[in-house]
Amino acid sequence: MTNLRRDPADEPFRQEVRAFIAAHLPPDMARRSRQGFHAPRSDTREWTRILHARGWSAPNWAVEHGGTGWTLSQQAIFEEECTRAGAPLLDIFGLSMVGPLIISFGSEDLKSRILPPFLRGEISWAQGFSEPNAGSDLGSLQTRAVVEGDDYVINGRKIWTSGAHEATHIFFLVRTGEGTRNGLSMLIVDAHAPGLAIRPIIDIRKEHSLNEVILDDVRTPVANRIGEEGKGWGYAKALLENERAFAAEIPRNRQNLATLRQIAAATLRGGRPLLDNPLFAAKIAELEVEFLALEFMTLRALSQSASQSGGQSGGQSGGHRVDFGSLLKVRGAELVQRITQLQVEALGDHGAYFYSHDAHIAGEPQPVPGPALAPGIWSEAMYRRATTIYGGANEIQRTLIAKQYLGL
Ligand SMILES: Cc1cc2nc3c(=O)[nH]c(=O)nc-3n(C[C@H](O)[C@H](O)[C@H](O)COP(=O)(O)OP(=O)(O)OC[C@H]3O[C@@H](n4cnc5c(N)ncnc54)[C@H](O)[C@@H]3O)c2cc1C
Repeated sequence: MTNLRRDPADEPFRQEVRAFIAAHLPPDMARRSRQGFHAPRSDTREWTRILHARGWSAPNWAVEHGGTGWTLSQQAIFEEECTRAGAPLLDIFGLSMVGPLIISFGSEDLKSRILPPFLRGEISWAQGFSEPNAGSDLGSLQTRAVVEGDDYVINGRKIWTSGAHEATHIFFLVRTGEGTRNGLSMLIVDAHAPGLAIRPIIDIRKEHSLNEVILDDVRTPVANRIGEEGKGWGYAKALLENERAFAAEIPRNRQNLATLRQIAAATLRGGRPLLDNPLFAAKIAELEVEFLALEFMTLRALSQSASQSGGQSGGQSGGHRVDFGSLLKVRGAELVQRITQLQVEALGDHGAYFYSHDAHIAGEPQPVPGPALAPGIWSEAMYRRATTIYGGANEIQRTLIAKQYLGL
């Protein structure tokens, strides 16, 4: 197993990454990312383009597929430095979900058409799996694709499709036969294809990240199928395991904990910083200990997966297949919620103030009531109510854990 301890030999690498980010990350992009609101996808694409010029746009892919070939430790350092500096999140749908599937199972033609533009920041993805009557019970989905000539013709309805309105491509799980095991296939579709309608779902924060996607005789070339027809369920399971491993969100949780400390230090209660209150300080300490445990669980999972695939995670053997994805999902999703809720608590009255996404992300920075860090905190806490639902509801993960680890 890979050594999980930090290697002092990586220090020059950290300095190189830090210097690159300091020289190339546009300040307005960093400001938008730091706000806690969802930054626009255009920032992700532009940051990907900047990284691509340096050969760094796929940190977790092997060199032969256009990645960096970095070790897990180097990948972790890169993520840490990016998050610390306020760089936008890279396109996880592409890097850790559909990209590794295309690398492992896609035809050479598909790889050459899709991977290079993705690495250049020209393609951004959305995931079209869930349907109004198929979420936890994904295998019962009804969106159907039928071959007509060189195309699949797709009809159906998807829901909760995050970022579809900003995506250039959507990867869909669709029905091409009967049953689950052999009846589903995975297709890539142009997000602007005729017949594909994207309807916004405005969430509790009054923000738009979710969508309903209606497919009415939408055509996509048969050549856009990933792997074999009827094998989509197996591919989807590998992809969802990667999504669950990401749910631990180590860099984001680390940053959120640091922000929590900053808010608690800047907020006065009874004339003293909240951070000096032993009860509140104990709550932070408890979360920090749990975070440390989660960080090591994630490193163990990635390390085990890398030694199984004999190289970088995400680029070989169907991506970084993490055996204990359900454990990471449950612990990570709950920790994200608890940290963001404590941030809101630390803000006191300002935790209830509505800071507008549009004013802070799309417009120029506004003077705000409360601490400078306050905008975006409530919004993030509200959005994160969904972490225990998306990527496979935690109740379902607990059942999987009971079967897999406890033999129940
Ligand atoms: C913010 C957000 C973003 C999302 N983004 C995407 C996306 O980009 N692409 C995409 O395809 N999907 C996305 N989803 C959909 C998500 O994957 C589903 O919401 C999730 O799988 C749950 O399905 P469901 O909503 O149909 O709930 P249901 O499956 O109807 O579940 C409702 C409740 O019943 C419980 N339940 C259901 N079955 C069982 C069982 N067998 N045992 C115990 N409890 C059970 C669930 O745990 C849950 O609490 C997103 C969802 C959210 C909230």
